[in-house]
Formats: sequence, C-alpha cells, structure tokens
Amino acid sequence: MKDPRPAKPTMAILGKRDLELGPFAIGEARPDEPGPWANWRLRNDKDGIAWLLLDRKDASANTLSADVIAELDAVLEKLERDRPRGLVIRSAKRSGFIAGADIAQFQGATDAAQVEALLARGHAVFDRLDRLPLPTVAVIHGYCLGGGLEVALACDYRIATDDASFGFPEILLGLHPGLGGTVRLTRLISPLQAMTMMLTGRSERARRARRLGLVDAVTQERHVRAAVKAAVTGEIIPAKQSFVDSLMNLEPARKLLASRMRSEAAKKAPPAQYPAPSALIDLWVAHGGDRDAMQKAEIASFAKLLSTSTAQNLVRVFFLRDNLKKLAGGGWEGQRIHVIGAGAMGGDIAAWCAWHGFTVSLGDTRPEAIGGAVKRAGELYGKIGRDNRQKVRDALDRLIPDLRGDGVATADLIIEAVPEILELKRKIFAGIEPRMKPEAILATNTSSIPLEALREGLPRPERLVGIHFFNPVSRMQLVEVVSHDQVADDVLAAARGFLGRIDRLPAPVKSAPGFLVNRALTPYLLEALTLLDGGMNKETIDKAAEDFGMPMGPIELADEVGLDICLHVAEMLHGAIGRDMPDAPQWLKDKVATGELGKKSGRGLYVWRDGHAVKNKEDAGTAPPDTVDRLILPMLDVCVTCLREGVVADEKIVDGALIFATGFAPFRGGPMHYARTRGIADVRDTLKRLAATYGPRFQPDPGWDTLQ
Ligand code: NAD
Repeated sequence: MKDPRPAKPTMAILGKRDLELGPFAIGEARPDEPGPWANWRLRNDKDGIAWLLLDRKDASANTLSADVIAELDAVLEKLERDRPRGLVIRSAKRSGFIAGADIAQFQGATDAAQVEALLARGHAVFDRLDRLPLPTVAVIHGYCLGGGLEVALACDYRIATDDASFGFPEILLGLHPGLGGTVRLTRLISPLQAMTMMLTGRSERARRARRLGLVDAVTQERHVRAAVKAAVTGEIIPAKQSFVDSLMNLEPARKLLASRMRSEAAKKAPPAQYPAPSALIDLWVAHGGDRDAMQKAEIASFAKLLSTSTAQNLVRVFFLRDNLKKLAGGGWEGQRIHVIGAGAMGGDIAAWCAWHGFTVSLGDTRPEAIGGAVKRAGELYGKIGRDNRQKVRDALDRLIPDLRGDGVATADLIIEAVPEILELKRKIFAGIEPRMKPEAILATNTSSIPLEALREGLPRPERLVGIHFFNPVSRMQLVEVVSHDQVADDVLAAARGFLGRIDRLPAPVKSAPGFLVNRALTPYLLEALTLLDGGMNKETIDKAAEDFGMPMGPIELADEVGLDICLHVAEMLHGAIGRDMPDAPQWLKDKVATGELGKKSGRGLYVWRDGHAVKNKEDAGTAPPDTVDRLILPMLDVCVTCLREGVVADEKIVDGALIFATGFAPFRGGPMHYARTRGIADVRDTLKRLAATYGPRFQPDPGWDTLQ
C-alpha cells in the first residue's frame, strides 16, 4: 500500500521526525476501537516496557483535568497488577507533552474545602505514580508546563527531546504549583533555582533543564527508544540534588534566602495585590525541610489562593486573552507585506512582521529613516532572539529596504504609517492604489483620522482597514482592528488573522475618534494633569494609580507615550466625542513647543535617565481619598460610552483591550469587571458626586443605566 505521507528530504527526517510512540504505530495513537480509557492508551513493547500515551479526547493539546487524573489512577492500578519491566509516559499530541491544568476548572472554584478535596485526590494519584515499583520514564517533547511538569516530576526519569520546554506558569494566574510541584522540584534541583522558576513562571529549554538537573537526558526523536531502554535498564543515572543544593533546604538557609526572594518578588508585584509569591515563599520557608508537611501545606495554600479575587481575576484575564486570540480565526494566507513610513511605528511594525516570517519591504522618502529602522530591528532581534543567530539573520534578510516602493506591486498587505496628516495619507493611497494586487489589503496605522475620511476617493474602499498598533510594537500585545461603513468582512477577518500570525491580539473597533483605547486613556491622563495643576505632586498622583494596580502612573505614562502625542490626541478628541474634558494646560503646549516631549527627549514631566523617570520617592505623599476615583472612573465611563455607541461589541473585548494595551490592573480583571465587582450603581453614584464637586466632566454616561 502506498504511504499517504509525503516524501520528506533526508535532512527533514533527521531533524524532526514523527513522534516515537513505541509499540503504537504512527497515527495509531487513537485507533478506531475504543480502549478502556477515553484519554490514555497503554500497550507493552517487545521488551516488556509499557508505553502509556496521553491523547486527550477532542483536543489538540493535552491538559490535565480531574477525569484525566482519575483515569491515570485506574491505569496505575492495572500497572501495579501487571508489573511490566518499565513504564514510559508520553504525549501523542504533536503540540507537546502536557500544557498544564485545564484552566477552565479553576473558574469559579472558590470553595477552598472542595478544592482541597480535589487536590488531595490528585496528589494521591501522583504519589501512586511516584511509588510504582518499576522504573518510570517521562518522555517529553514541546510544552511541559504546570501540572504536566508535575506528572513528569513524579516519574523516576525525564528524557527530553531538543524542543522541550519546562515551566511552572501558575504564578501568572495568581497561584503556585498545586499537585506536588513545590515539594518535588525543591528536592530535585537547587531550591534556589526551583523557587526562581516558580516565582517567575519562566520556562527553561531542554538543554538548560538538563544542566539544572530537571531532566536526565536530552535526545532526538530517533534515539528516544534507545534512551528509554537505557533508563529502564539503569544505564542512565537519574539526576539528583547535589549535597550543597540540599543544604539550602535547611531552615537557616531557607530563612536567609527567603528575605532576598521576598524583596525581589515585591519589586515585580505588590504582595497586597498579588499574594501568590509570598504564599509560595512562606510555604517553602515553613516546610521546606519536611516533605509530608510541605505537601499538606501546598494543598491548603493553593486552595486558599484559588479562592482569592486576584487568582479568579487572573484566570479571567487568561480567558480574555484567549477570547481575543480566537478573534484572529484561522489565520491569513498572505506572505508579503509592504510598509510605508519607516518612522517610530512603521519601522517597528516592519521589523516585527519580518521576525514572524513575513517578507517585508519598507519604504520611506528618507533613506536614513529606513537605515534607522533596520538598525533598530537588529537591536530588537538581538534581544528577542539571543540564542538563535540563524533566526536573527533570516529575519534581517526578510526585511528589505525599498526606497522606490517596488514592494507595493507584490504585497498581500500594505501598511501605511506616515505622519498623521489626512492629505498626505490620501495622496499616498492615490499613488499606490493602481499598483496594488486586486486582492491586496490596504491598512492604515492612523490613531485619530476617521477611516471614512481616509477611504474617500479610493476606487475600492472595501479593501481599506485600520490596523492600529501601540508603541512600542514589540511590547504592546493589543492592536485595534478598525472597521468603517464600507469595509469588506473578508478584509476585517484577514486583518485579524494577520495579527494572529504576528502574535498580537486583535480588538475589533469601529472607526470613531480615538477608537477605544486612546479615547479611554485621554480623560485619565488629562485628569492627572488637572491634579498636577491643582498642586498635587506628580509622584503622589502616580503612586495613587500604581496603588490601584496600574503598571505605571498617568504622569509617567504621558512621558512614556510622548507629550506631543498626548497633546495631539487630546486636541483631536476635544469636541469630537461630545465629552466634557479638561483643557490641555498651556504649560503642556509650551513644553511640547520647546521639545520637552518626555522619555524620548530625556525630559518631560519628569527628567529621564537611562530610560527611567527620575522620581523623588519622598515626594510621594498620600493622595486625597477621591484621587483614584477621579483618575479611574472617567476611563470606565468612556468604556461605557463606547459600548453604548457600538464602537466595541462587548465588555469582554473592552476588558481585554484595556488590559493588553494599557496594563489596566490585571488583578482587577479589567475596567468593566472592576465596575461590576464594585457595583454599577456605586460607580455611577460616585461619578455623580464627583461631578457635583469638580464639574460636569464626571457626569456619568447614560449607558450606565442600561448595564445593571
Ligand atoms: P514618524 O514621524 O516617526 O514616522 C513617519 C515616517 O514617514 C517618517 O520616517 C517619514 O520620513 C515618513 N514619510 C513621510 N512622508 C512619507 C511619504 N510620502 N512616503 C513614505 N514615507 C513618508 O511617525 P510615527 O510616530 O511612526 O507615526 C506614524 C503613524 O502611526 C501616524 O499615523 C500615527 O498617528 C500613528 N501612530 C503613532 C503612534 C506613536 O506612538 N508614535 C502610535 C500609534 C499610531
């Protein structure tokens, strides 16, 4: 019979071949006839070694849920009876070993006692695996995260292929490992490294994991079978915690190391808002010397954390991201991109697209702008692709300087990022339109010009869409996809799919002044300037916002964005959105006129040194109690206006957009979620009170009345 798989060049076969599934033939991981378990398959090879494949039903990646763990328990019971020579646990999914727990199970799981009972059952199963009286080997490719790593840690050996990566990302959800990970990892590798992995959530690639002692061997697919045999026959000596490392688990060392860990963790996230890092450190300090006590305490601590609003809101943020990711749909087929304007935005957009595999031509009227953009691209690639020189070189090869704009004729997507001048943009469109491929998409990065004005005069207005990136492109995950009354649906879908391919999150918005994000940020920034005018210290204002949970205060943010850009957006929105807003103060205009633009010029509202605002911490006194409401509630009010006007479709998109574009306090779950948690009536009444005290700019939007 003919092999249905396409022939592959030799190098490709040597480099990346099908997964070694032992006694299971390739593609047979999920045979027609059902086995005793829905998610696991078990079979012995000719050496008498049992291969246990995890192949979660109806899913493209393996995650751990209560039913998967319950089935594992049944498998282990059988293995205890059958006593094969050894056991291999492996994923049958190409995507990797196990991506972690099924996070959907965390949603709403706020009954600590129930969570503890569930975890205790999981622990019993993993302990059973740990105690199995035969050599157990986890063979790991791709992702091995969270609960997946906990399965692997309960095995005697961990054999990784080159592409494997290991991590405990629970901290990003306001949690720490809960299925024995804290106990096993701190006893396998250096406790310091173990705690760092768990406190940062960072993943380690296979080779580094080997150096840490987290895996016992790194190999390639074609050697997996031999490696398994070597492990089962005891030829591979399992990695063990060194004597020196084990000393760190002694009480005095734990106490000493913990104080440093606490201060490091507090720098990254305030413990009052994000309690998980402290809980993890407490757990280790109190019980790091006693395995059983630590296991018990891990269960209790995890259950307690899961019931906090922080963890529940961070789980919500995980799904908000997922929601935006899904909007990217099945992707987009295009290959070539042409970017017009190699300035701050265009240059970085081009670099980011080339990094993600597109062939990108970059045009500008000034060759030095293109040169600068390519130089910046090199610097960015150096940072994000440190250990992969080949990838850096390939990305630079794909970024093509194109002074004459030849790339227009072959591009599937053209992104315009020239200065914010309607006539200039229109002129450029008129010049390139006749040269574009008929199916090509024309995108503008405008942040303020209505698309209805830009599409005028275009023979095919349905091909024009707004793709509004935020600065800096490589760090800001969110991108607004701006529609207008004549855009074609397939163009909008393509724009979203394109963003999925460059690992950005699309937020669909309708063309309206400031779209969603800038419109919501503007009253926040302007109110901060009003507070400043009223005599409050800038440090005090920033600290009030940071204490609320914003990643940086509004004064620092204004400097970071650029005072010229803030002023421009504020002036554009004034009068355009029917909202009473404070006027931009004259001194702000003067600063912009004299070139004090913020971070980029080294001086704005703050003085900037080495990329940081120089703050006088002693000046950060306590702000009056209504300061946070004055700053935050107008932002919420704009979100409600945008929902009422249909600029944005629903609250989930609003929350995702504001979190991923502005860093809006993630532990609060987004602006709309915050409003709902606090109480719609409370927010509206507070706005009314603020309006009575400070003026009509706080008058609540009528949209609040229909939100209840
Ligand atoms: P910029 O001034 O840094 O860059 C614009 C570039 O366009 C310059 O290099 C200039 O030489 C070039 N240019 C001018 N005329 C041209 C022409 N006819 N053909 C080709 N190139 C030409 O501006 P920027 O900050 O990158 O902004 C570009 C667009 O992105 C604007 O629409 C702006 O509103 C939008 N935007 C800016 C930001 C931001 O923070 N800077 C954020 C989001 C969106």
